[in-house]
Formats: sequence, structure tokens, C-alpha cells
Amino acid sequence: MSDDDVYMELVCGDDFNGPCARCGAPVLLHVAESLEGDRITWTATTRCVSCPYTVASQDQPAFFDRVDVIVRQTLIARVGLTRLRADPEVNRTLRLRALALFRQQGATVVGAADTYTELTGEGLTGSPAEMAVLAARLTAAGLLGLRCVGASA
Ligand SMILES: [Zn+2]
Repeated sequence: MSDDDVYMELVCGDDFNGPCARCGAPVLLHVAESLEGDRITWTATTRCVSCPYTVASQDQPAFFDRVDVIVRQTLIARVGLTRLRADPEVNRTLRLRALALFRQQGATVVGAADTYTELTGEGLTGSPAEMAVLAARLTAAGLLGLRCVGASA
């Protein structure tokens, strides 16, 4: 079995919790995110607890896409959540721009409206890179006064 086969097996089976393909021992999952421009890359690495077998895979998650729950939970557990808020007063006349952006990213009409309400209320939460990308896109769309702050899970 090549490393590519193992990678597919791990990703397709959503089984980042092992066992090790070489020795059958449990594996540990580490997830990191990186940001280049507005492109996020997740690197998921599984490392066997008893032998040196390690498998790394990378993926580019997209907003509103269904993403691997285990990978995302592992990432958030490590890096924490960031909350993105927009001032509701300053952005009142800019609401349609945000709705258009959310719709472009795949949200339904109702979903886009709910997302905007959340953005200007308690704030949206996501990984630091996800919120940085969203803030940059909303700012490019013309929204004002966006703030990212740490948030507890
Ligand atoms: Zn092993």
C-alpha cells in the first residue's frame, strides 16, 4: 500500500483516529491551517503512537461547504474560535452587499439573512483563518468596522 492509498483511506473513511496502517496502534491527529491571500489550507497529520508512521494530507475548505467534522473540531480545539462582528449601524445601508457575498458563497436567501443578522449581532465564529478571509471579503465588498476577537468554543 502506497502513502497515497493510505491518504485516500483515511480521508474517504473519515477515520483520522486510526488504527495505524503499519502496526495497528492508535494514531494522533494534528490539524493546522494556513492562509495565502484568501485561500485557506488545512494540513491534517496523523502520527502513530508506537511506530514512526505519519500521514499528512492537505485540503482547501470553502465557506458553507460541508467539511470534515473531525478535522475541523481538531483544528478548533487547537487554535480556538475567532468571532467576527460588524457594526450594525455603520453597515445598515451596506447590508445588501453582505447578503450578495453570502449568496455567492452558497448561502440560501434565508441563510444569507440569518448570517448577516449573526454578523451584526453576536458575531460569526470560525477558525482564525476562516474569519480573516471572511473579514477581507466583506471589507472588499464595502462593509465597514469589522472586528475579529477571540471567542470561547
Ligand atoms: Zn504504527
